[in-house]
Amino acid sequence: MNNKKNSTQSAGAWTRLELWKKILIGMILGVIAGTLMGPDAEIFKPLGTLFINAIKMLIVPLVFFSLIVGITSMQDTSKMGRIGLKAIVLYLGTTAVAITIGLGLATIFTPGAGLDMVAMTTDAEIPNAPTLVQTLLNMIPKNPVGALAAGNILQIIVFAIGLGVSLVLIGEKGNPAIKLFESLAEAMYKLTELVMKLAPYGVFGLMAWVSGKYGADVLLPLVKVIAVVYLGALIHVVIFYSGMISILGRLNPVRYLRSLTNPAAVAFTTTSSSGTLPATIKASREELGVSKGVSSFVLPLGATINMDGTALYQGVCALFIAQAFGVDLAASDYITIILTATLASVGTAGVPGAGLIMLSLVLTTVGLPLEGLAIVAGIDRILDMARTTVNICGDMMVSLLVAKSEGELDKDIFDGKKKFEETA
Ligand code: ASP
Repeated sequence: MNNKKNSTQSAGAWTRLELWKKILIGMILGVIAGTLMGPDAEIFKPLGTLFINAIKMLIVPLVFFSLIVGITSMQDTSKMGRIGLKAIVLYLGTTAVAITIGLGLATIFTPGAGLDMVAMTTDAEIPNAPTLVQTLLNMIPKNPVGALAAGNILQIIVFAIGLGVSLVLIGEKGNPAIKLFESLAEAMYKLTELVMKLAPYGVFGLMAWVSGKYGADVLLPLVKVIAVVYLGALIHVVIFYSGMISILGRLNPVRYLRSLTNPAAVAFTTTSSSGTLPATIKASREELGVSKGVSSFVLPLGATINMDGTALYQGVCALFIAQAFGVDLAASDYITIILTATLASVGTAGVPGAGLIMLSLVLTTVGLPLEGLAIVAGIDRILDMARTTVNICGDMMVSLLVAKSEGELDKDIFDGKKKFEETA
């Protein structure tokens, strides 16, 4: 009787537990099971395969619908258009830099070296190496339906952006289709949430299998991944953003760095850029002196389309997985990774764990095995904390630069000479 009560209670406690904690538990139990059982732990592998297949199922419709909705939500005119354009250029440019830093650091520190997982995958397609010109030309789908059916992510992204822009350009007439895509995107977010409920079990299955084969050796490389992502985050914010602010904005970066304290704390703990939005808007206005107009337009846009931290993390993880699985990437693959992660960042929601699904896109595009994804999933929350913080620091940096260039910056507030006062 008591036993039954206890088990009902613990089942209830498990259901109430936050997802990331469940995933972490799944990973730890997987490592324990694998270490105890050795190669026999392979019996748990189908749990992992189930999860990976479910993620594969999401990729194409998720990117397609959410990108279209991301584009159509940016309807605006004249000044808004100019500010928006500046913000978008800065957002995409800095994202490309972020992923390059991630790729660079992972090349230097090779977190996946020594983790010989070549035998672990059955479907690692070794990508043949197209040239840069070919990569760029191949981005345009000759047949968009074919691109969707084949799951060619870069082509899908290009077509979705084109379709989204066209829907905005036709005005009123685009509304019914926009509504339909909004509802489908919403449904895909829901489906993603449902699939992610499988993650603890999938991660358990894969970790049991991997550590059954390799013992606890898989843990050290994961610690390295964490260290490399945090180092990259620090470099990107403290060196790159500060540099942008002093060189492009001719402003003192120390004041910017100081204003990050509150929003960064919120981002670090909530791992959601959208959830951090109130804190970023407040800090931008009250501590940096960014106008209401610019902050209330540029920051929400950034929380939706600007994901520097996520891109950096993808660079590190893609190379980690390539190193671990012994896949040699060609120069054009690096370019493809930069392009995919930058463009796909437009369609990623600023919610916890979104970057992990995005990582599956990047891996698919260059033919890296998705098994690697499940290995990273176990430590994803720790990485999400760093990448979300970078994401919102980037949003604030861009709001500051755009405000400065538009004459929408109150320099006295920025310099700390005047206290912020809400005006009507
Ligand atoms: N959690 C991140 C954010 O909200 C997105 C991600 O998972 O990378 O910005």
